[in-house]
Order: sequence, then structure tokens, then C-alpha cells
Amino acid sequence: MIELGRSAAWLPEVCVVTDVCRENKSTVTLELENSSSEPHSQPLAGQFHMLYAFGVGEIPVSFSRIESDKVAHTVREVGAVSKAIAALKPGASLGVRGPFGNSWSVSAKEHKHIVLIAGGLGLAPLRPLIERLWQESRKYEQILLLIGSRDPQSMLFTDDVTRWRTRIEVRRSVDSCQFRNRGDDWNESVGFVHTLLDRESELSKDTAAFICGPEIMMRHCAERLVELGVNSRQISLSLERNMKCGIGLCGHCQFGPDFLCKQGPIGNYHNLRPRLRIREF
Ligand SMILES: Cc1cc2nc3c(=O)[nH]c(=O)nc-3n(C[C@H](O)[C@H](O)[C@H](O)COP(=O)(O)OP(=O)(O)OC[C@H]3O[C@@H](n4cnc5c(N)ncnc54)[C@H](O)[C@@H]3O)c2cc1C
Repeated sequence: MIELGRSAAWLPEVCVVTDVCRENKSTVTLELENSSSEPHSQPLAGQFHMLYAFGVGEIPVSFSRIESDKVAHTVREVGAVSKAIAALKPGASLGVRGPFGNSWSVSAKEHKHIVLIAGGLGLAPLRPLIERLWQESRKYEQILLLIGSRDPQSMLFTDDVTRWRTRIEVRRSVDSCQFRNRGDDWNESVGFVHTLLDRESELSKDTAAFICGPEIMMRHCAERLVELGVNSRQISLSLERNMKCGIGLCGHCQFGPDFLCKQGPIGNYHNLRPRLRIREF
């Protein structure tokens, strides 16, 4: 049901970019003032904004940081709109609608063991959740964060990773050894991110897992977690399928009976598994 009284759902609000940070050669993080004054529109970890580059177009982008006075979005340049957004400089204006979608759901009362798995840019939507877990780490028995990336140069948020390692176990892997030909330094694992789970013989029954990345990577990771004893209903995935309106009207993101912009983008593996082989169009 669309809230007709909420202009943020229909009309982009003009926000000013307050800072821009280049993460790697194709990815930038834009910081915006958090304009959500009403508690019901405060963003939650896992949600997204529709970002409008004036005169170019509008795309969904997850929150990569959520603070009381500012939010951040991390954007990879792939096409016209993401390139226009990534080219913005501090002081530039951007149209913003939202926040939209559901959120990562975690509770120390229900889960003592947490596994987070990020593939490439999938670390960005997980970052607000990781920050929360880092702050509340004493409430959990184990928090394991696995990060996969194409090569060392593409690794995101490396300063945050150093800080997270003070309270969270972080394992990282790059896809192949080809980076060695370029002389890049890397003394962590090599191989697809799900292989980082090979060191586990089993995981506790009360494990909650959160995965974000390319769909094929999420499928491999979720299957491995199930083999290790994690309940498929406790494995959350974020699906980034094509989306246009963000409010359940256009039907672009229809996924079985759900609209991913409204019932998603996050769902549990038990429900999503039968539909994951359906390709988007
Ligand atoms: C809920 C949600 C959250 C997202 N969060 C982020 C985020 O935090 N950061 C970010 O950079 N991107 C994110 N995306 C993806 C982003 O919306 C797309 O990259 C963007 O729509 C591409 O638009 P474009 O005009 O730049 O490129 P287009 O010209 O539309 O596409 C260029 C290329 O990118 C591919 N592409 C388009 N949309 C997607 C998509 N959804 N996923 C993967 N590939 C796509 C196309 O197939 C094409 O190959 C998210 C998408 C969704 C649905």
C-alpha cells in the first residue's frame, strides 16, 4: 500500500552531496545530508534510496552508511545513470526518494552466531549492519565476516576492515592469482568467497547469515551454509534486480508473487531458492 501523504515516495527531494570518496577505479561513495526528519523515514540497514541524476535518470542504490545527520551511498559506474551520479562533486545536487525496501533483521536474543558474506560491491549494503554488529559485538558469541573481491585493488572500505578486525573475525579472499602479474601485494586467501567457509566443519544451529553480492555467489554461499547446518530460513539475501519506480507500481522488479522494491530486496533463502534460477529481463 503506497502512503499517499508521503511526498518522498513520489517526488524526489533535492539533496546536496557533502563529500565524495573514490573507493577504487569504478566505485565512489557519496555522502548526503540525512534529510529524514521523521522517525518513520529514518533509513534502516539494507534499505535503498532511488537516486535521481537530473536529466539522466533514476536508479536504486543501497545505504552504505547511516548516521543521524548523514547517509552514504556507494555507487559502481556501470551505465549512464550510475556514471552521472559517480561524477558528482561535493556541493552538487541529487534527487532522492525513499528510503524504500525492507531491512536486514538481526536480534541478539535469537542469534548468538552471525555470518556475513559480501561479494564485491555487496559489502556496501552490508556495511550499516556490520557497523551495528561491531558496536554491539559483546552481545554475540561469534561474528564472522567473509569478503570476496575480484582483486586486491577492488577491495572496499579497507580502513573500516582494519577497525572491524578489532572485534569481528574478518576473512578476505580474491578471485584469482592474476593480480600477482601486476605485482599487487596480497597475503590473504585466493579463491571464490564461499571457499572461505571450507574451514568450517559445522556452524551452530542458531546461526543467522546475511549475504550480499552477485546472485551466483549468493547461491554458492547459501548452499554451503545449508551444508554446514544453517537453517535456510535464517539465511538472508539481498536481491538487486532491475527496479524502476521503487513503490510497487511499475512491475519491473516482480519476482514471483513479490515486488522486490516492496517485499524485498531482502528475503530468506528458503523462500527465494526456487525462484533464483529465473533470469531477470
Ligand atoms: C535494491 C537495489 C540496491 C542497489 N544498490 C546498489 C548500490 O548500493 N550500489 C550500486 O552501485 N548499485 C546498486 N544497485 C544496482 C544499480 O541500481 C544499477 O547498477 C543501476 O541501476 C545501473 O543503472 P545505469 O543506468 O547506470 O546502467 P544501465 O545502463 O541500466 O546498465 C548498465 C549495466 O549494468 C547492469 N545492471 C543494471 N541494473 C543492474 C542491477 N540492479 N544489478 C546488476 N547489474 C545491473 C545492466 O545489465 C547493464 O549491463 C542496486 C540495485 C537494487 C535493485
